[in-house]
Amino acid sequence: MRSVVATAFAECDQLVLFLATGAAVRLLAPLLRGKAEDPGVVTVDEAHRHAVALLGGHGGGANDLAAAVSRVLGSAPVITTATDSVGTPALDALPYPTDGPLAPLTRALLDGAPVRLHTDQTWPLPAFPLTVVSTPPPPAAADSGEPSSPEDPQPLAGQAPIGQEQPSTRHAEPQAQAPHQPRTAPPNTAIPRPPDAAGASEGSRATGVAGAAPQVLGGYAVWVTDRVIREAQGTVTVFVRPPSLVVGVGGSRGVGRAEVVGLVRSTLAEAGLAEKSVSALATVDAKAGEEGIVAAAAEFGVPLVTYAAADLAGTAVPNPSAAPLAAVGTPSVAEAAAILAAADGGQLVVEKRKSAMATAAVARRRPRGRLAVVGLGPGARDLVTPRAVAELRRASVIVGLDQYVDQIRDLLLPGTRVLESGLGAEEERARTAVAEARAGHAVALIGSGDAGVYAMASPALAEAADDIDVIGVPGVTAALAAAALLGAPLGHDHVSISLSDLHTPWDVIERRVRAAAESDLVVTFYNPRSRGRAWQLPKALSVLAEHRTPLTPVGVVHAASRPDERVEVTTLAGLDVGTVDMVTVVTVGNTASRIVSGRMVTPRGYRWQS
Ligand code: SAH
Repeated sequence: MRSVVATAFAECDQLVLFLATGAAVRLLAPLLRGKAEDPGVVTVDEAHRHAVALLGGHGGGANDLAAAVSRVLGSAPVITTATDSVGTPALDALPYPTDGPLAPLTRALLDGAPVRLHTDQTWPLPAFPLTVVSTPPPPAAADSGEPSSPEDPQPLAGQAPIGQEQPSTRHAEPQAQAPHQPRTAPPNTAIPRPPDAAGASEGSRATGVAGAAPQVLGGYAVWVTDRVIREAQGTVTVFVRPPSLVVGVGGSRGVGRAEVVGLVRSTLAEAGLAEKSVSALATVDAKAGEEGIVAAAAEFGVPLVTYAAADLAGTAVPNPSAAPLAAVGTPSVAEAAAILAAADGGQLVVEKRKSAMATAAVARRRPRGRLAVVGLGPGARDLVTPRAVAELRRASVIVGLDQYVDQIRDLLLPGTRVLESGLGAEEERARTAVAEARAGHAVALIGSGDAGVYAMASPALAEAADDIDVIGVPGVTAALAAAALLGAPLGHDHVSISLSDLHTPWDVIERRVRAAAESDLVVTFYNPRSRGRAWQLPKALSVLAEHRTPLTPVGVVHAASRPDERVEVTTLAGLDVGTVDMVTVVTVGNTASRIVSGRMVTPRGYRWQS
C-alpha cells in the first residue's frame, strides 16, 4: 500500500484514496513536497458516505474532485478550505495566476481585515469583499514621461475599482482605435485607461508621481498588475497577474530554446514586467515550426501565435531592419508580431531586444471584459444549473430585472455590484451589461428560464462588439419546465409562439399560429394573456381549432416550479382562458397527442404504437 500510494503521488495529478483519513495522512505525510507540486487528494470512507478533500483543495483541484467523486458515489463532499465555506473568492481560485503569499492574505480577507486593492487595468475578476478597498487615484500629476522604477509602488489614476459602485459615466464606451497602430509606452508605468472618459484620461496617463509612497504602510494589499512592484516593507502583498502581455519573438534558423527563453526572461525582467502575465508568444508564420521558439512557448505555458509576413510588414514599428526582410519578408518580426497579437487597443511597451540569434519585444493588450448571459430557470432553486451558480459567483457585476435578482441574491459573493431595474427597461439593461463588460468587468446578465428565449440575450448581443468575451449559460425554459409537469407533450415536433404583440404585429403572430396549425406542430404559447391583452389567446386557439378536434389535449401551467404552481390538463373545448395569465404557458397538442392517465402525451412516431 505504502509504495502504491507513493508511486501514484509522484505520477498523478489527482488521487482518490479509499482509506480512512488518518491512514491517508500517515501515508502521505512523508511524501509532501509543497502546495504547488503536490497532487490533489480526496479520501473516501468504506461506506462511501464522505469524500474528503484532504490535500490541494484549490490548486490541486481536490475540492472539485471531491464533488465529482460524490456525484458518482452518492457521498457527501467535505470541503474545508475556508474561502469556500464563507463565500469569499479564493485568491488561488482566481482565473489568473498570482505571485506572493496567498495564505496570509486569504486569512486577512476571511477575517475582514482591510485590504488595499490596486488595479492597473480593469480585468474581469470576481467580486472582492467590501473590506477590500480600491486605493483612490493620486493627486493629478503632470506626465513626467519617465518610466517609474519598479521600486515605486504607486496608486494609479483612473483604475476602476473592483466591487465598488461607480458612477455610470465611468463606463463610457471606448472609442475604436485605428487597428495596428503602434504606440509605445514605458513598460512599468501606469497604464492609460482605454480612451473612454475624456478629461479624466489625461490624468490617468501620467506615469505616476515619482517617489510616491503607498498611502498606508504595512497591512495587506492586492495588486492586479503585470508590473513587478516592490510594496512597502511589512505589507503582505499578493499580485494577481492578468494575461495582459504578449511577447513577439524572432529567431534565426536553429535558435535554441534556452536562448529564446533567456531573452524573453531578461527582456521582461529589465522592463519590470511579470512573466506570469505573458499570455502568448507571437512570431511570423515561417517560424511556426522553429523548434527553439515552439519549445519556449511550451516552457512559458502559452500558445504560439503566428502571422503572415505580409501582415507583419504592414504593421508600423519603431525599429524595422533589413535582416528579417531578407530572411522572411518583413522588416519586423518581434515588434510587429507583438503589436498584432496585442490587437486593437494594445500597445508596444518594450521595443526590440536582441541576443545572438533571437529578438523579442513586448506589447500590452487591452483587457477584455466578460459578459455571461445566464438563464436562472423557471423559479425553483434546484432548477438553477450549477454552471449558472458558478457564473453568478464569477461575476463582479450582476445586471437584471429586480425580481430575478431577488431569486438569486443569496448566491452572490459579498461585494458584487448589483444593477437592477424594473420591468420594461430591457434595452437599458442590455446596454448597461455590455458597457460594464466593455469597461473590463465580469458581468452576469440574468434572466428567468433561458436568457435567450424571449429575453435579454438578443438585445445584449445586438449591442456587443467583438471586444468582449460572451458566455451563454442555458436555463430551463418555461416550455420545458411546463412540459415536465404536463407529461410528455413535446415528444414530437413543436414550436413556441409568443402572443405578445408589443414588439410584433398581430398579423405576423397569427400567420405563424396558422402555419403551426397547418403543419400539425405542438404549440407552446408564451406571454399568452395579460390584463390588457385578452383576445389574442382565444383567437390563436380558434386558428388551431380549424385543424384540430375539440378533444385535442391542452396543458395550462401557471408558475412552474414556484410555490403557486398550478397544472391543468384539459382540451381545446374545455379550456377556460380565464385561468391563464402572464405567468402561464399554454401547450396545445398536435392531432396525435392524447391524455393518458391524466398526462398529456405526444407520440414520438406518426402513429401510436400498438
Ligand atoms: N426567458 C423566459 C421567457 C420569458 S417570456 C423563459 O425561457 O422561460 C415570459 C413568459 O414566459 C411568461 O409570460 C410566461 O408565459 C412564461 N413563463 C416564464 N416563467 C414561467 C413559469 N415559471 N411558469 C409558467 N410560465 C412561465
